[in-house]
Amino acid sequence: MWVLGEHDEPYRKVRNSVLHLVGNTPLVRIRKVVPQDLSPKVEIYAKLEGFNPGGSVKDRPALSMFLDAIRRGLIKEGKVVIDATSGNTGIALAMVGAVLGIPVELAMPANVSEERKKIIKAYGAKLYLTDPLEGTDGAILFVREKVSKEPDRYVYLDQYNNPANWRAHFYSTGIEIWHQTGGRVTHLVAGVGTGGTIMGTGRRLRVFNPSVQLIGVQPAYPFHGIEGLKHMESSIKPGIFDETLLDRTVFVETEHAYEMTRRLALEEGILAGQSSGAALWAALQVAKELEEGVIVVIFPDSGEKYLTTAPFNQL
Ligand code: PMP
Repeated sequence: MWVLGEHDEPYRKVRNSVLHLVGNTPLVRIRKVVPQDLSPKVEIYAKLEGFNPGGSVKDRPALSMFLDAIRRGLIKEGKVVIDATSGNTGIALAMVGAVLGIPVELAMPANVSEERKKIIKAYGAKLYLTDPLEGTDGAILFVREKVSKEPDRYVYLDQYNNPANWRAHFYSTGIEIWHQTGGRVTHLVAGVGTGGTIMGTGRRLRVFNPSVQLIGVQPAYPFHGIEGLKHMESSIKPGIFDETLLDRTVFVETEHAYEMTRRLALEEGILAGQSSGAALWAALQVAKELEEGVIVVIFPDSGEKYLTTAPFNQL
């Protein structure tokens, strides 16, 4: 167990563990799943966040929020880290907690895939399942109530309102994309759950080039099958999500997201989660309208966790 007062200890543990593999994910050109009449001067690239050690983009904010809480002295002996999640943040927090020796409790809607629940338990975190009809809002309200009952016990990371979430992307994802495209990126397309990815990555890219276009992706309807994304109008709005920063929001139907996800595996050899399919569908709408450009699409995770659910359950 990590002893308080030795404040550089968590950083040593990050360096000397699987956590040092968070970030630096590959960027891959999408060549086949593109519009038929795509201009030859438009390039589409996918940032494969499934290559993070916890298997998703959320490793970045999970590590960032943990280290931020440690730096601010919030995590002390006997405290439990808690958050609401649609799954990937839970997996990431559970992984970080396992490495740092800090107990983690998570609340998520009961209808998320079985794989997600098992992975979280495998990392030793405690899981509370909330009403699936309430979506992540149900999990958020559950955690708020738990924390208000036992405020001394919990450190509530609150990924929906924690600036350390988007800053993780400001200090990693955005810089990586800039370098990986040789500074040529013109458009960033990313699904919105907490908004952390698009806010942090987008802000960084705009530092490098203020004309980079930011395109957010949301499900077309409140009830949808795109795990990880949020339909903003029908749910608790994340405090870190500032829609005014975006040039555009593309709304994607579940079936379109699934179709793209299946095609990614069949034609590109990329087994991705359905929010990747949603983001790619949105990117293709943007690509159709362009004469030239370099579009980077965030693929938040890979497909293994979804094999027993749509879009893959008919296999
Ligand atoms: N896709 C998946 C699969 C996710 O788990 C998440 C995170 N909830 C997102 C997209 C959206 O990322 P963000 O929270 O950074 O907006």
